[in-house]
Amino acid sequence: MAGLRRFDTHDVLNQSPPYEDVDLFASDRPLQEAVGANGAGDDSTALGAFGRHWGSAAMIDQARLANENEPKLKTFDAMGLRRDVVEFHPAYHHFMAASMGASLHAMTWKGDGTAARAPAEVMRAARTYMVAQVENGHMCPITMTRASVAALAAEPTLIARLMPKISSTTYDPSFRPWWEKTAITLGMGMTEKQGGTDVRANTTRAEAAGEDYRITGHKWFMSAPMCDAFLVLAQAPGGLTCFAMPRFSPDGAVNGLRLQRLKDKLGNRSNASCEVEFVDAFAWRVGEEGRGVRTIINMVQLTRLDCAIASAGLMRMALALSVHHTRHRIVFQKRLADQPMMRALTADMALEMEGVIALVMRLARSFDLAAHDAGEAARARLLTPAVKYWVCKCAPGFVYEAMECLGGNGYVEEGVLARLYREAPVNAIWEGSGNVMCLDVLRALAREADARAVLESLAHAAADLPGTADAAQLVAATMTAADAEAKARSTVEQLARLAATAALAENGSTQIAEMFARARLTPHPGSTYGTVPLDGNATQLLLARALPE
Ligand SMILES: Cc1cc2nc3c(=O)[nH]c(=O)nc-3n(C[C@H](O)[C@H](O)[C@H](O)COP(=O)(O)OP(=O)(O)OC[C@H]3O[C@@H](n4cnc5c(N)ncnc54)[C@H](O)[C@@H]3O)c2cc1C
Repeated sequence: MAGLRRFDTHDVLNQSPPYEDVDLFASDRPLQEAVGANGAGDDSTALGAFGRHWGSAAMIDQARLANENEPKLKTFDAMGLRRDVVEFHPAYHHFMAASMGASLHAMTWKGDGTAARAPAEVMRAARTYMVAQVENGHMCPITMTRASVAALAAEPTLIARLMPKISSTTYDPSFRPWWEKTAITLGMGMTEKQGGTDVRANTTRAEAAGEDYRITGHKWFMSAPMCDAFLVLAQAPGGLTCFAMPRFSPDGAVNGLRLQRLKDKLGNRSNASCEVEFVDAFAWRVGEEGRGVRTIINMVQLTRLDCAIASAGLMRMALALSVHHTRHRIVFQKRLADQPMMRALTADMALEMEGVIALVMRLARSFDLAAHDAGEAARARLLTPAVKYWVCKCAPGFVYEAMECLGGNGYVEEGVLARLYREAPVNAIWEGSGNVMCLDVLRALAREADARAVLESLAHAAADLPGTADAAQLVAATMTAADAEAKARSTVEQLARLAATAALAENGSTQIAEMFARARLTPHPGSTYGTVPLDGNATQLLLARALPE
């Protein structure tokens, strides 16, 4: 190593060592506390092994490879015959095998497709959060596969056939009919050219063919096109309906999915997202005709949870890289980590991260408990869009600030932060963009009794902490406000921050909850990270919790 640091003209000094071969679990105190507080403390040993594996230099390098070597669409073969396949770099397959091997696509389901017992959601959320710190693109099909089960549940016969393949942990990338494979993955196609949010405007048509259907039309965005089947929306005679469309039809022929081109995306490069036409494509109906949105929303609720978890993971890696770098970089004869302004900045970012991880893991707990606890179901209903909105909105600005902590090194593609930065906005856009999440919170608030009960439980958990009573009042006032839509963004932000404060208090970290409430729920001058007044002890505590020295 010493030899590598000596050039003809200079010695290489004062560059921070690579942040790799780290234990993503043991180095993250807020995560450990959130896991324990949400019922998954017994999983800590396994989470440690998982964190060491995913934090290894080898995995971090595989992530670079998977994103530098983008998937390629092979529309035709040399003879001009259609192929409609996407080829991925081996590093992408490596991640798919690792995540499916750890059952991130299936561990929240029992073999029959019903929900696994708590704390399966929290266990999965903790793992997903660590994976998102390393490689995000491959998580798209993992997320969609796990979530698809919630929609397929509408068809007991179909799910009974598919579940053995969905729950298999042996990744099988081959392009073959689903019944011949060891394991399958599922994607989702809702968005069309004329509308993504407004799926009722879908023009894709479905016609009954015996017990099954034939679908003709298009999707403007359909990610992970090498999945073995897709949940799609199409207009059936009875209205917008959910279907499951396999890549191969039951006779073993390639089904009528014509991949048109791959999107040239800002980030999320290891994942393929395609435009597709459906040409008389075979599909099974999922749920009743006309109830497409109602059926697929069960899936979407789970993908929204994953968007928040993934954004939290991006933020965590950005924070860790910042704190790590500033501890090794000397400027003006002093470590950056000892410069008061840099300490104020990184401590404020660490405080944000405390709120974010507590909030996301507490939401996963609600998903764990929702089936048997109406209060937790109402909490999941109200908070999922709020958490998705707030956490996904925080991530780009947070990662940007982290880039700046590394100076020029933060901005170049050899480092990890540039990729995290390009990845960060997508979680806010897909699975319901920001404003759409706020409208969804308003819909949940309109169920006044449920919403009031959730607000009361948040206010109770965060009792007496600064700003919490005002935040609860502001959210409650929106329920009956005539101009609720115009105010929705500020309401949803306050709701998410109130819920984060409550989650921190429930975790038992009263001191952190108090700091978070004061910093995020009471007014202070300044709008960027590092402007919140934190005293020396608070700063020291937050940075020590963020990353052990
Ligand atoms: C990388 C990537 C991968 C994707 N993969 C998939 C996929 O696999 N499957 C799939 O189905 N889709 C996918 N999408 C599409 C994505 O879900 C849509 O882009 C998204 O839902 C928004 O739809 P839209 O693009 O049509 O925008 P629009 O619906 O036109 O919305 C534009 C903006 O208007 C806002 N808006 C909408 N309604 C209102 C309102 N009433 N009041 C105020 N503001 C409003 C929205 O919040 C948004 O910010 C993907 C997108 C990306 C970027």
